[in-house]
Amino acid sequence: MITSRIIIAKWVLPMDAPPMENGAVHIWDGKIVALLTEAEAYAKSDKYRIDRTHYSRGILMPGLVNVHTHLDYTLMRGLLEDIEFFPWIRELTLRKAIVEWEDWVASATIGAAEALSGGVTTIGDCTDSGAAFYGAKALGLRGRIYQEVFGIDPNFGLVPDIVAELSAKVEKLQAEAKGTHLSIGISPHAPYTVRGELLEALAEYAREKELYQCIHAAESGAEGALFRAGTGGIAEMFARRGIEWKAPGQSTVAYLEARGSLSPRTMLVHGVGVSASDRFILSRTKTAWAHCPKSNAKLGNGVAPLSLLRGEEGQNPVGIGSDSVASNNTLDLFEEMRFAVLMQRASRRKIEVLNAKDVVEMATLGGARALGLEAEIGSLTVGKSADLCVVRIDDFHSIPAYDPYNALVYASRASDVISTWVEGVCLYDSDMGGRENWERHFLHIDPALLTDAKARLLEAAERQREWRP
Ligand SMILES: [Zn+2]
Repeated sequence: MITSRIIIAKWVLPMDAPPMENGAVHIWDGKIVALLTEAEAYAKSDKYRIDRTHYSRGILMPGLVNVHTHLDYTLMRGLLEDIEFFPWIRELTLRKAIVEWEDWVASATIGAAEALSGGVTTIGDCTDSGAAFYGAKALGLRGRIYQEVFGIDPNFGLVPDIVAELSAKVEKLQAEAKGTHLSIGISPHAPYTVRGELLEALAEYAREKELYQCIHAAESGAEGALFRAGTGGIAEMFARRGIEWKAPGQSTVAYLEARGSLSPRTMLVHGVGVSASDRFILSRTKTAWAHCPKSNAKLGNGVAPLSLLRGEEGQNPVGIGSDSVASNNTLDLFEEMRFAVLMQRASRRKIEVLNAKDVVEMATLGGARALGLEAEIGSLTVGKSADLCVVRIDDFHSIPAYDPYNALVYASRASDVISTWVEGVCLYDSDMGGRENWERHFLHIDPALLTDAKARLLEAAERQREWRP
């Protein structure tokens, strides 16, 4: 069935054109076919369904793109607090041992529901278990699921075997992704959890299969010390485990370039430790970045130098990522945008380093570019997919709203999202089913599935609470 409707909103934010006050978007068969003024919209009311009512309270904008999530870690929210970065990642890894497959799927399902209810239509997700795919698929999200791969210790697994095992997982997910809005990539987790020869083999595999890659890089001081001098917490752990390590004496970015890992199909995550000379490498390789300001701050890793991540002349795509709720603790991209601006301004002591419009662009079009999806999504452009959200601006904390960009970044919250649409289909509507029955706000999933997922997640959380690694 072809759906056609016109949505009128207080503000329409196309992102590739100036905001329109009292504007409208015409959707036909999942695509955006026109941007209209309110008068033009009403002139078509004899032919098309017009949605005004509660949307007139809000900002209609492209669906948010969260370029870096780990939906399956939703059950780890608030579990590992006040721990230094490297012990934090070690404990997270150990705690995976008591999580069962159904727990992972339940966890990812609730994570996907959180994302969608906060206006996110597209994700870039790194998953070790693979469960993120099933959560994202159940809720109807768009995006790329990067299958994670680890292997720092040459005593565990031969490189060809690890690549073959990864390839089998990728092919299985690719087959299941047919007919969904999801595609599959790979994620060599980080240069300190994947050895050099394996990074090279994975880069080769990605090239051959035309797969996108996502790698955590230049995140912590411990990682920087490991690569520059072979010292610090990660180096000590290598010594304890008998893993041989010769510091390359390079930045992570230079090291990854030498392994062949950087390309326009690669997205690096974090980049806190990116140096001035790294920006030339990034520009040359056209590598994308996921900027995760809250996670970087919360784990005490610092503030990423955004101007360097954008490359020599700002040509590297940069999107906004929440990272997992194990380090965030929410998928609220409004808060993430707010942090992005405030952290840059606080650390650089300048107003002009970043403004609200810049960061809304990063969370929409920038994210779409970082994932290589800008031809389909990221702006309200005629011909693109109707992936959008509506954010109310009539609540106590948001009136008056003089400017839509500033209202979104400095005053809005994920819970202000009224509705979220993917390919012209409304998947989430906060007015449906009443406040207490949040499962009923999701229009294309059986509410029982969400109720069950929530119960399963809480049971798994109870086990985590009692367990000590
Ligand atoms: Zn991450």
